[in-house]
Amino acid sequence: MIVRTRNPEATHHLDGPLTVAEVLARLDVPEHTALVIHDGQLVTADHELPDDAEVEVRPVISGGAASGCLVCRKPPVIEEPRHRAAWCAEHFVDHVQNQIRKAIDHGHGLAHGERMFRYRDRLLVAVSGGKDSLALWDALLEMGYDVDGLYVGLGIGGYSSRSQQVCEIFAQQRGAHLHVVDLAETYGYTTPSGASAAGRSTCGVCGLSKRYVFNRVAVEHGYDVLLTGHNLDDEAATLLGNLLRWHDDFLARQGPVLSGEPGMQARKCKPVYRLSEREMAAYCVVRGIDYVVEECPLVAGNSGHELKAALDLIEAGSPGVKAQLLFGFLDRQARIAPAEQDDDVEVVACRDCGMPTVTEVCAFCRQRERILQVLPLLGDRTAV
Ligand code: AMP
Ligand code: ZN
Ligand code: ZN
Repeated sequence: MIVRTRNPEATHHLDGPLTVAEVLARLDVPEHTALVIHDGQLVTADHELPDDAEVEVRPVISGGAASGCLVCRKPPVIEEPRHRAAWCAEHFVDHVQNQIRKAIDHGHGLAHGERMFRYRDRLLVAVSGGKDSLALWDALLEMGYDVDGLYVGLGIGGYSSRSQQVCEIFAQQRGAHLHVVDLAETYGYTTPSGASAAGRSTCGVCGLSKRYVFNRVAVEHGYDVLLTGHNLDDEAATLLGNLLRWHDDFLARQGPVLSGEPGMQARKCKPVYRLSEREMAAYCVVRGIDYVVEECPLVAGNSGHELKAALDLIEAGSPGVKAQLLFGFLDRQARIAPAEQDDDVEVVACRDCGMPTVTEVCAFCRQRERILQVLPLLGDRTAV
């Protein structure tokens, strides 16, 4: 069906039939802030709209964000132009947790009735010490999930030690379990030393090392799902980058849910992909979560920042386009970026470490081997 929203003006294509309430939920429009018009008639929340319906969603609150909290009308502490809404502290926490709940229960890429995870699952959240992952851990604990943390020490001087400390204090205050894996201690190199030894970018070495450690800890400790704090801004910037360069394979795989292979590849989910950077930071402030505000000192020149800045520029003039870009893509992903069937590629255990790979030795072990040939040994090589 075609759904036109006004102010901001946008057209959405949704597969029907859907009730009016479902359409509004998909568009993140609170029911009492809009009128829904179908065939020239006003329709109520439980009215079912057929697949070929043409619908208009017309806002009824003038002057942008409401003057009080969307829920209780008390003075708000934050407004969000994308939702044309404002919240008091208490209801902002609800808003963030509702968005996480929506991602868990109805996130893009989930099959009918499938959830990102359930209450009985054992969850592992990768925490960097930054706002997104700590806010996610906090929200899931508050929501009653069984969730441990994993911090990977990358050896980036004071930045890494401050990040680790923030994660440890967070876990201690909540009586939650935090795994800490230090790259230098366990694998014999740090991100900066590894990058210069391998002749690769620090972000490249860092990314491969983190993904490997995340998966290894999740698999070895029998966690059902690995979670990361990738937010709306991260995912929209990644999408824009993949579109600008037409990385078809990345476009096909990008998404908030990546299914795994039991005992080999952990299932990976991104429960805060519906929430912006700003909302995540505000959640930390409201909940009193101490996080590392400084950026990694090695990211200078990382193209992700330019893409985020470009999107912010467009978003400022048209609140909501960033979410429309990402969610609109994810709605159409199967059609416009279908995943290739790679049935003939056999996944085997890495000869050196036993983790899954499609080559004899996995990319992580090959990179580590190259690094350790060049570096004087920093740690215990027998750890693998
Ligand atoms: P980034 O790649 O730095 O944007 O981080 C994306 C996500 O990866 C974060 O939200 C965390 O969930 C996770 N992450 C990043 N760095 C670390 C780290 N050093 N240890 C554990 N998890 C991390
Ligand atoms: Zn309120
Ligand atoms: Zn390996």
